[in-house]
Amino acid sequence: QAKSRGRNRVQVFSDKMVSVTPDTLLLENDLYKALERDELRLHFQPQFDCRSGRITGAEALLRWDHGGRLIPPSDFIPLAEETGLIVPMGEWVLQRACTMAQQWRELSGWPLRIAVNLSALQLDQPDLIDTVARTLAETGLPATALELEITESVVVRESLRAADVLMQLRALGVGIAIDDFGVGYSSFAYLRELPVDRFKLDRSFLSAVPQSGGDSRLVAALIAMGHRLEVGIVAEGVETQAQADFLKAHGCDEAQGYHLGRPMKEEAFEALLMAHSSEVAQDNAAPGDAQ
Ligand code: C2E
Ligand code: MG
Ligand code: MG
Ligand code: MG
Repeated sequence: QAKSRGRNRVQVFSDKMVSVTPDTLLLENDLYKALERDELRLHFQPQFDCRSGRITGAEALLRWDHGGRLIPPSDFIPLAEETGLIVPMGEWVLQRACTMAQQWRELSGWPLRIAVNLSALQLDQPDLIDTVARTLAETGLPATALELEITESVVVRESLRAADVLMQLRALGVGIAIDDFGVGYSSFAYLRELPVDRFKLDRSFLSAVPQSGGDSRLVAALIAMGHRLEVGIVAEGVETQAQADFLKAHGCDEAQGYHLGRPMKEEAFEALLMAHSSEVAQDNAAPGDAQ
């Protein structure tokens, strides 16, 4: 009897240790306050046209400034999804990203596109379409300059509902990208049904390119497949010049990665965009001198 009581006690205790560690509680408590305390930040990572090397867009990536420590999304987004906090947080991200993008477009004259990640829970909100439409109207960002990224797993899991929501977003003029494309959930049946503008090749595909012949052939095939489906391909996780060269040689549309540009603070991204746009303007003004 003592033994079974002991076992029970241990079980209850260990359940609590697993699900409600003091750390998680503290983090959850603080996460609730992150929004009102204005602790959320966006970093922006540039995306480049593989052929011309020019900036096409930027992906907005969320960080939490928790008492001076910058916490990466992998450490708090799961909790934000569990608690539903991702919905107001996601609205903040959308508003901030669209505001900054439009500001930079006006400042630089560069036709920047901004990519914003959406979580599954946001896709489930009946007012998502209204929220996106309202944000575009408020910020003045053209719908075609906004791209929403949805991970492949979410789209596959909720393919019917997702297709409906994506269709409505697209009717607004907003672009749709499938994030982490090709990882684990491959179902080719949905590919032809979905209203999608871009596949973002998961960076795991690229990590052994070009050393690995198998991986290199797979990436080349995925690029070709995207093009046959009339879907653009963005390669994620470009960390070397050899990878960038490979993508260019195989007709990949766009690339994003540490080798090309890291996620950076707003001021740094603005400086990059201003320098880039004036450089291109100079090249265009004096084509003969460009070489
Ligand atoms: P993701 O959307 O696939 O974003 C790309 C991630 O890869 C980013 O990590 C980026 O910093 C990282 N990355 C970019 N280039 C390279 C590279 O060359 N090498 C390597 N190793 N990594 C690279 P981050 O910022 O930590 O974001 C992680 C994930 O968190 C994102 O993956 C996205 O799923 C999620 N996330 C970020 N911001 C938001 C947001 O505002 N809302 C939602 N729902 N999710 C977000
Ligand atoms: Mg993304
Ligand atoms: Mg990704
Ligand atoms: Mg990811």
